[in-house]
Amino acid sequence: MRVTGVKAYPLSVPVGDLQRTSQGSFGTISIVVVVVETDAGVVGVGEALARFGPTAYAELIETLLAPKIVGMDPFAVEAIWQRLFRTFSGRSGGMLIEAISAIDIAIWDILGKVQDRPIYELLGHMGREGIRAYASSIPWTDDANATKVVEDCLADGFREMKVKIGAPVEASLARARLVREVAGPDIRLMADSNWIFDVDDALEVGKGLAELGYFWFEEPIVPEDIEGYRWLRDRLPLRLAAGESEHTAIGAAPLLTARAVGVVQPDVARSGGISETRKIANLAAALHIPYAPHVGASGAICVAASLHLAAAMPNFLTYECMIFPNPLRDTLLKEPIGGKETLKDGALPLPRGPGLGVELDMAEVERWRVR
Ligand SMILES: [Mg+2]
Repeated sequence: MRVTGVKAYPLSVPVGDLQRTSQGSFGTISIVVVVVETDAGVVGVGEALARFGPTAYAELIETLLAPKIVGMDPFAVEAIWQRLFRTFSGRSGGMLIEAISAIDIAIWDILGKVQDRPIYELLGHMGREGIRAYASSIPWTDDANATKVVEDCLADGFREMKVKIGAPVEASLARARLVREVAGPDIRLMADSNWIFDVDDALEVGKGLAELGYFWFEEPIVPEDIEGYRWLRDRLPLRLAAGESEHTAIGAAPLLTARAVGVVQPDVARSGGISETRKIANLAAALHIPYAPHVGASGAICVAASLHLAAAMPNFLTYECMIFPNPLRDTLLKEPIGGKETLKDGALPLPRGPGLGVELDMAEVERWRVR
């Protein structure tokens, strides 16, 4: 079996102000969907996180990456990854790894399809019936709206939820307190500041969160500042969470080996696809650090790939179930997956079909395509 072609579809959809964080709102959600074709007639689908400039990603994939893997055996998935990783000279990261993520996910989809097995079985799964999930996220909007969203999450059956916080410190703590009051003492709460703080303010916020019984404090400071994470971790009685900003295992390694985080959160559509995200999760597993997949404003294929990894990794903790409507998650598949309406006893069902276990609706892909 050989790869015969790679097609990339840049997609974009306006979502308004639904997911406000300390850094503002995205306004639009953009991804790139990739279709990898083979001479066996089997095609695989993948997705790259492409927050800005999705057409540039598509160009990179079709003109630079695709010619490198046409003719390669999909079962040489690691060789494919390594060849793509060396596309540029110097240190690889950012956009290139995000683009590789889409191709890698599509290759895994092919491997599952030709063996008639879901990807989580190929990865050596843990026998999980469902995927434990938390609600993400209570937006950084006014109190009335935040209260309403918490109440909705409780009504939807969530037992874990994440709240977006922001500057100043007092506002963050007031929000964290409000959410604790509305959610009650038995709900597991996490807070995400999207790196708005410096270490001193983060320390103050973290202490307040710990007093309110929060479980983790996500991206308190800029992701590059590993020393800062370590400094905070030594002073705070709650877990720090990070890793959504990392692109590779070697990128995530300092965060893990420094024991700077208590939860690692790679995003499969950013961190090099299933191959590389598995390496990050495995590295964390070796260090007894839990893995909680980041999904954020991604599309349906990222959701599917994340659920497969969640089913397979021994150190999987909880899955980020996004609670705001996202057409790139909700409309791209013939049968949508990963939505909060499918939550049962705090867990989401696994896609059980071969490969990713999903079928793209190409009419919807065309509908959201950037031209
Ligand atoms: Mg986050």
